[in-house]
Amino acid sequence: MNQILNTGISNVKNILRYVFAEGAIARLPRLLEEPRRVGNGSAVFLIDEFFQEKAESLLAGAIRDGDQVRFVSTHDEPTTDEIDHLTAVIRQKDGSNCSAIVGMGGGITLDTAKAVSNLLTNAGGAADYQGWDLVKNPGIFKIGIPTLSGTGAEATRTCVMTNKKTGVKLGMNSDHTVYDQLILDPNLTQTVPRKQYFFSGMDAWIHCMEALNGAYRNPIGDAFSRQAMDLCDKVFSGGEMMSDVNRANLMVASYLGGCAIATSYVGVVHPFSAGLSVVLGLHHCVANCIVMTAMESFYPKSFARYTAFVKANEIEIPREVCAGLDAAGHDALYESTIVHEKPLTNALGEDFRKVLTRDRVREIFEAM
Ligand code: ZN
Repeated sequence: MNQILNTGISNVKNILRYVFAEGAIARLPRLLEEPRRVGNGSAVFLIDEFFQEKAESLLAGAIRDGDQVRFVSTHDEPTTDEIDHLTAVIRQKDGSNCSAIVGMGGGITLDTAKAVSNLLTNAGGAADYQGWDLVKNPGIFKIGIPTLSGTGAEATRTCVMTNKKTGVKLGMNSDHTVYDQLILDPNLTQTVPRKQYFFSGMDAWIHCMEALNGAYRNPIGDAFSRQAMDLCDKVFSGGEMMSDVNRANLMVASYLGGCAIATSYVGVVHPFSAGLSVVLGLHHCVANCIVMTAMESFYPKSFARYTAFVKANEIEIPREVCAGLDAAGHDALYESTIVHEKPLTNALGEDFRKVLTRDRVREIFEAM
């Protein structure tokens, strides 16, 4: 790609504060002291259901009487209705007067906590804020604790959710969505299932690869992306990808990749991946990995690198996921892919529809 395009993003907000250390979660009680002085003093903990049994010991000393602890289901990615329901339940107990929201988990949980924080201080429902810069008031003070590395949700200014009525999958893109504080503790990713660790780690690598191959560029975003990709290389090149060192590397890569997203756009992979999510219900990170298997013509070098990562870590990528889809199914896949104009322009130029004809899109999905 020769021509560099202006991203149109004029001002960038990144995370205000973070701690990074093995065992850093032990600092949570102290980090909650200051926010507890504002509001009614209570905190709301939104925790990935994966930690249902371990939450109490992990968060010892952080949870006080009067706090709310709620587990977030990660079976499906969040809908606007579910976010509204959860917000209403929390509001019923605390009004909008709680002091802090703690989101602990993977991308789904981190995004859920961001959305709830915004809605507690802004009237209306989640669907009213899907878009860019629609959130008016700062949300409740929020602390993010990622337990899975790769999506970058801990660092971004959005929280992805699907509106089932309109079919729109879009987040609240707002400076108010950015976490006030992060706790980055690599010990928390020890228990992630290997496959999931690989799929979500690849999300960071794919974001950055797409950004660096695109036309919309920002020098700081590029620097974040390069560093994140270097770290992913260390993690996935053939050593033990889940060693202590590599889990720390991947947590940093995820954070930097999330920072890169603020100034860049993805490319061909994410729109196709969105098609798989919308039509077949596949989760974001595994869908990306499936799409990568059919990306040789768009990203030949990255395709080779990706294939080597898969092989080195003995990961099985689901195959033939679109087999047996009828014409209507393929129409739906095409529509939910081609709608992502900005990333597709980033990757292929404004005439991307000439490259991605209906037939070509079908061929690509059938090659997965
Ligand atoms: Zn992604």
